[in-house]
Amino acid sequence: MKVYYDQDTNLDAVKDKTIAVIGYGSQGRAQALNMKDSGLNVIVGLRPNGASWEKAKADGHTVMTIEEAAEKADVIHILIPDEVQADVYNKQIKQYLTEGKTLGFSHGYNIHYGYIVPPEGVNVIMVAPKSPGAMVRKTYEEGFGVPGLVCVEKDETGDALDIALGMAKAEGLTRAGVIKTTFREETETDLFGEQAVLCGGVTELIKAGFETLVEAGYAPEMAYFETCNELKLIVDLIYQKGLAGMWHDVSNTAEYGGISRRERVVNEESRKAMKEILKEIQDGRFAREWALENISGRPHLNAMRRLENEHLLETTGKKLRKMCGLEKD
Ligand code: NDP
Ligand code: MG
Repeated sequence: MKVYYDQDTNLDAVKDKTIAVIGYGSQGRAQALNMKDSGLNVIVGLRPNGASWEKAKADGHTVMTIEEAAEKADVIHILIPDEVQADVYNKQIKQYLTEGKTLGFSHGYNIHYGYIVPPEGVNVIMVAPKSPGAMVRKTYEEGFGVPGLVCVEKDETGDALDIALGMAKAEGLTRAGVIKTTFREETETDLFGEQAVLCGGVTELIKAGFETLVEAGYAPEMAYFETCNELKLIVDLIYQKGLAGMWHDVSNTAEYGGISRRERVVNEESRKAMKEILKEIQDGRFAREWALENISGRPHLNAMRRLENEHLLETTGKKLRKMCGLEKD
């Protein structure tokens, strides 16, 4: 695995280029500001009546329509939500992709599954901070950065990797380290992580634990604290010190009980399900399902959102978070 740091990289491939950041949300704002503060020539492409327009102007950017930005730029870095990228690309960007330009992303989804097919002669790269936008900006302002990924799907000019690394450096990512990977690896591991572990696995584990306690007659407030609220403390320990460090810091009773019981909760059946989930990501079944869901107005997602919001875990949590001053109305 190749990791690039500040001393391995320079801005030569990007310093004379115009970089259009399309979108000014979580990633767009952070990446555009960092690159501008590093001296790169950044323009921001947005829809004129959207909420971001004034925000980007107030931050000191040169703001224009997506079409104008795509026409002017050498590098078009697409940082709008993944599910609208193909439509915006086809209607507002594609026609300006002349030979020698570079198309950039922070997630490989649309390129990997073929929703966006760039023309011949155009570089396709990824510069992906491994962190939410707010952290990308905050750490940069503190003089450091978050780790990131770079990938090259198509190198038509011979310096596509240098362009990606130049942008990564300007965003502060090479200060923490940038890993070179592929669009396929980034897309598939990212989807798997969020589905099986980070977003899907963890929420269902919390709900199952909460429901078990409540069904056995314990107070929902107690159940919430024990199965949800305290998760943050454990995750912080794992994040800072690894599994062994976490085991060291919890009580011996917690360590013995946890290690001796955990495989009854997550077991062979769960691993089999994880393998199926990964297969659906690899063979495109998940992407097709999500595309159909979007085309049909997201009926399943909307219903699942409503059901989850109504769950006792959520109503209990809302009350408790307000009580602890963690959440306002
Ligand atoms: P956001 O949801 O924050 O993007 C919002 C921006 O997109 C706004 O400027 C909005 O403009 C614009 N936008 C939304 N819909 C449209 C549309 N139909 N046409 C034109 N502009 C539109 O996106 P993220 O920053 O979360 O994600 C951007 C990319 O970064 C994605 O590929 C994502 O996978 C990737 N990524 C995200 C991470 C994160 O932490 N969020 C982490 C790593 C990668 P307006 O104000 O006009 O509505
Ligand atoms: Mg991810």
